[in-house]
Amino acid sequence: MAADLSKNISEVQTTRLLRDIVRCNTTNPPGNERECCDILHEYFRDAGVNSEILEYAPGRANVVAKVKGSGGGRSVMLNGHLDVVAPGTGWTKDPFGGTIEGGRMYGRGTSDMKSGVVAAAVALRAIVDSGMALGGDIMFTGVADEESSGPAGTKYLLSKGITSDMAIVTEPTDLQIETAQRGILWMEVKTFGRAAHGGRPWLGNNAIMQMNEFLNRLKGLQSHLSSRKHHLLSSPSLNVGTITGGTRINVVAAECTVTIDRRTIPTESADQALSEITSIIQELEAADKDFHATLRELGRSTAFETAGDHPLVRNLRSSFTTVTGREPIIAGKDASSDASLLTDAGIPTVLFGPGQHRVSHTADEYVDLEKVVQAAKILTLTVVRSTAGA
Ligand SMILES: [Zn+2]
Repeated sequence: MAADLSKNISEVQTTRLLRDIVRCNTTNPPGNERECCDILHEYFRDAGVNSEILEYAPGRANVVAKVKGSGGGRSVMLNGHLDVVAPGTGWTKDPFGGTIEGGRMYGRGTSDMKSGVVAAAVALRAIVDSGMALGGDIMFTGVADEESSGPAGTKYLLSKGITSDMAIVTEPTDLQIETAQRGILWMEVKTFGRAAHGGRPWLGNNAIMQMNEFLNRLKGLQSHLSSRKHHLLSSPSLNVGTITGGTRINVVAAECTVTIDRRTIPTESADQALSEITSIIQELEAADKDFHATLRELGRSTAFETAGDHPLVRNLRSSFTTVTGREPIIAGKDASSDASLLTDAGIPTVLFGPGQHRVSHTADEYVDLEKVVQAAKILTLTVVRSTAGA
């Protein structure tokens, strides 16, 4: 079976499709995923696959392709984002050229994650071209707006009722199987004092000095967090990203604001992480009548772990071994991705793709073309095994 399906995956076609979509500038903001969707839509339609483009707003598009199974099996979604971050500086190649050199393709999005999108699209088409009967449905979702965690992509599709029994997000994992992901909680803390002349500070209440008290307590929490461990992920962490406060050198600051980036592991909830910060504020307010602070949540993404014995993980493992002859590496993802939206919607999800996280978002981003073909083959087998009827 593996050999039959692999016949339908050609490196030439895989590379051509990748080059075509790398050449679409989908830098987010503003996104402009439409042209990229049109190319994938054509690719599916050529093979007689049912495909549609779902626009959230003009230019902000998603492509959804679906192959119906005969029933009796479980459905699998292959999900990948089409938007990319701005190229930035330092490139020696055209970031939207799709230059090929030494078995690698260079360009923004080659690793993160148009190679993963192509591996998924090619896998779906290989199954269709083989004429093999499936038990459950296969769905491909090429989505907008992942890089800014916006509403136009996976969130939009979920709101339209698009769902599946399990999902693979083909983010750059360097062909490792990532079954866990850290979560994010972004917060803003503001302290409030009372303005006065800087020459008579005893008449006021300095919000910056209050913030200093708060930040000292945060340092204690930081070391406590690093004592929490996870077998696949880095320990939870927090980082104070920005601070602003005061208006002039000779005025007692009436306000000071920090933003905090807290990363969670699957054993911690975002609410728990939030209440740890609230407790610090309450303790400081109880101890000092001049301390006043507020906490505001700016956004969150849930940490998750999909069990190692879930059929999707087992099938991905065995398919990896069938294609490569090696045992796969099971790992976790410290960064965020749309996988958290899918797991929040109750869809067991893993991450697996041909790109490399370490070259993502960098100058001269590239992908090894051989890995794209390998990923397509592994995904093909995984989907066939996972959608098979009981
Ligand atoms: Zn990505």
